[in-house]
Amino acid sequence: MKYAENILDTIGNTPLVKLNRLTSDLPCVVLAKYETFNPGNSVKDRMALQMIEDAEASGVLQPGGTIIEATSGNTGMGLALAATVKGYKLICVISDKQSKEKIDILRAMGSEVHVCPTDVEPSDPRSYYSTAKRLAKEVPNSWYVNQYDNPSNSKAHFLTTGPEIWEQTDGKITHFVVGVGTGGTISGVGRFLKSKNSNIKIWGVDTYGSVFKKYHETGVFDPNEIYPYSTEGIGEDILPKNVDFDIIDGFTKVTDKDAAVYTQRLAKEEAMFLGNSAGAAIKGVLQLKEHFKKDDLVVVLFHDHGSRYVGKMFNDDWMREKGFLD
Ligand code: PMP
Repeated sequence: MKYAENILDTIGNTPLVKLNRLTSDLPCVVLAKYETFNPGNSVKDRMALQMIEDAEASGVLQPGGTIIEATSGNTGMGLALAATVKGYKLICVISDKQSKEKIDILRAMGSEVHVCPTDVEPSDPRSYYSTAKRLAKEVPNSWYVNQYDNPSNSKAHFLTTGPEIWEQTDGKITHFVVGVGTGGTISGVGRFLKSKNSNIKIWGVDTYGSVFKKYHETGVFDPNEIYPYSTEGIGEDILPKNVDFDIIDGFTKVTDKDAAVYTQRLAKEEAMFLGNSAGAAIKGVLQLKEHFKKDDLVVVLFHDHGSRYVGKMFNDDWMREKGFLD
């Protein structure tokens, strides 16, 4: 017999899938690390489990305790899987920009969800960062995960995602391209790959309205870079400790429109039904064309599944309203 002891044992070991149409103008092969095969349908299952297990080991998370997190949905899903299997309560604090599907899914998985306004400063008491911190003080026997600054986030990718990509490509990978939010994925994978071969280039995909690209290029945190945007999962108005700017070779910014259009194109042209940050990531790869040569091997990571975006990028009324359809 061959079976997993519980759902957490099925996290990781996701496939690497070649892109065949969208990348036909590039001189090299592009492979996608296809993270929707995780049980929570996103890469975030990996870091959620790692953060909980490290918190158990250090004693900050006690039996029967409550896990509190500010999450755009995918981390919440990963935390919900681990909380249920391990017997913890979960409270997720989410911003009102996130899709209704993500909120409904978290509630379906047994999490309490608090929805907060998006367009306020992170320091505003109504922001989702502040609300999560306040709840962590008020709720007894609780632990605030803080995926932005929690080192177990990037550690999960150093221990699992990075080694998987290295082995699946027989060490032939030359470029890794990925959307950046908390920075856990790019930093953990990037650190591992560079520890194997320091010539591998690590590219972050950022969005207009986020501070990363300018900060990486100038060392200046420029508040003028910050404004509302519709792309989900990537870009920040803060500098999370998990973004290791030293291992990142560069950032490319993708517009909201391109991220949405390429999310649709992945579904229609590659049969890859994926989330909005996958559209941004593949457009980012295409924008980096001049950096690739014939024998390069590019790996792009796709974070989550399309089902969470059916009311948005996969809905032409929404696309029209946003001015994303020509
Ligand atoms: N895409 C999606 C859909 C996400 O949920 C996240 C996490 N915010 C990211 C990309 C970025 O990943 P990371 O936080 O590891 O930088």
